[in-house]
Amino acid sequence: MQNTHPAHNNVDMTEVEKFNQLATEWWDTDGAFATLHQINPLRVSYIQRFTELHNLRVLDVGCGGGILCEALCDLGANVTGIDLAPDSLRVAEQHAKNNRLAIHYQNISAEALVESTPGTFDVVICMEMLEHVPTPSKIIRACAQLVKPSGHLFFSTLNRHPRSFLEAIVGAEYLLGLLPKGTHDFSQFIRPSELCRWARSAKICIDDVAGLRFNPATRQYKLSKNIQVNYLCHGQPVT
Ligand code: SAH
Repeated sequence: MQNTHPAHNNVDMTEVEKFNQLATEWWDTDGAFATLHQINPLRVSYIQRFTELHNLRVLDVGCGGGILCEALCDLGANVTGIDLAPDSLRVAEQHAKNNRLAIHYQNISAEALVESTPGTFDVVICMEMLEHVPTPSKIIRACAQLVKPSGHLFFSTLNRHPRSFLEAIVGAEYLLGLLPKGTHDFSQFIRPSELCRWARSAKICIDDVAGLRFNPATRQYKLSKNIQVNYLCHGQPVT
């Protein structure tokens, strides 16, 4: 694993450390990241609506323990996962090795990776990370610089909507205990309009936004038209 310190300071190390501390829980489907395991098949099927994955070069920015990376590698993608939490990356590497998956993990920021490999990836994905960085627009810009001109980008985050405060913070963290308390800060949530604007200024056109809704009765998530809480989106470079 290459260890490159972020040349740029668009990182909240307190946030990264929070994830790093939980590194041993990445693959515990009942642990702190249970929700990510639950939504993983939905986000993979969302990605597949827009692109094949077989033999494509895929970059997962803020990959954590590799939950999404492994699913994409299983589908034949050539996956690189980057994060700034060393223990999470160690867990990701070990888990991939145990599953005989050739995933390339690197401790590097998206901004720093732009310097060595601009315009290299067929697909660039950044999920559930933008709400944890100081300046998310800079991550979007870096993703735009990392994707090939004909490539695809996928982002997911939480909408700064009152319903999101109720469901993603009060509900998920405090009432249902689905996420550790303090996982999210409402003020860091991102409206789809903001994300689309940042993408546009990085010459990316977001052409689809889909919601991800939790049904507390069934305790299941599903893709939905309602984007008030969790949402995913797809974009492509403007030609
Ligand atoms: N994308 C993964 C993990 C989401 S958790 C998934 O959805 O399954 C958020 C992850 O973002 C954590 O692993 C954290 O370490 C990472 N992260 C936070 N800020 C980052 C930054 N500036 N650069 C890279 N990774 C970052």
